Amino acid sequence: MPLGPEDDEHIGSWVRGLGLDGLVDLHLHFLPERMLSKVWAYFDRIQERTGYEWPVRYRRPESERLSLLESFGVRHFAPLVYPHKPGMAEWLNGWVLEFAERVPAAVPTATFYPEPSAVSYVDKSIRAGVRCFKAHVQVGAYDPGDALLDEVWGSIADAGVPVVVHAGHGPERGPFTGLDVFAAVLRRHPRLVAVLAHSGMPEYAKAVELVERFPRVYLDTTMVGVPFAEKITPLPPDWTDRLGAIADRVVLGTDFPNIPYSYATQLRAIAGWATDDRLGDEFLRAVLHDTPAKLLNL
Ligand SMILES: [Zn+2]
Repeated sequence: MPLGPEDDEHIGSWVRGLGLDGLVDLHLHFLPERMLSKVWAYFDRIQERTGYEWPVRYRRPESERLSLLESFGVRHFAPLVYPHKPGMAEWLNGWVLEFAERVPAAVPTATFYPEPSAVSYVDKSIRAGVRCFKAHVQVGAYDPGDALLDEVWGSIADAGVPVVVHAGHGPERGPFTGLDVFAAVLRRHPRLVAVLAHSGMPEYAKAVELVERFPRVYLDTTMVGVPFAEKITPLPPDWTDRLGAIADRVVLGTDFPNIPYSYATQLRAIAGWATDDRLGDEFLRAVLHDTPAKLLNL
């Protein structure tokens, strides 16, 4: 039974043991250095508001973070960026496009914010060949159903480019968090290839319902099932039963480097689900490689 890698040093051999030539991580983060240090400062202070500590595990220079991913066998990844205010997304998109040009394992990604220029810079990103979008409803504190985004969702749906949507209430509630709010966007754009970040944490059951209802909706594994998250927002007891029916709609995501535990810890959580006979190694190969590779068009 696949129990997962003991620690980061054992990830490579574990992955090879599954018959994979590497991992595809659809949800991790690279940002301009100054912004990243602000994100880390946010996690340093999170205890004041949430009551739990969040010691960022991989607080290292960019070059070291890239070497670590390589050592884990991450062959391809989507470096996700996101704005918290207007006037920022287009600049981030320029930064991440340049990042993807200099880092072979990174696919080009883009983001957006409800603002009048969004339609044009999102179209420009699609023409530039981005392979994944990120929408952060919690950090951006915007309504994903905002009229300024209607055409944006439409363009992304038409292009068939996946969009990772952090619409859930974790780690803190926002004015427009909650899967019901995002479900309205899906009803209006049912062809959208949407990846529900963190499997909708804490609304896991509702996230599975959306996957069952919309054929192009997926879940990412980011922070899901790790001991840190289980203490705060435990998975429903029938989680692996639910996964059985949607096993080809789950993709690896990790939130590297901003996690308070090791990369191997996330892989162990996923491997733990696969001990359910109905899932097994086939499920692991789909989640860790095949399904995210398909979505990123690799
Ligand atoms: Zn994230």
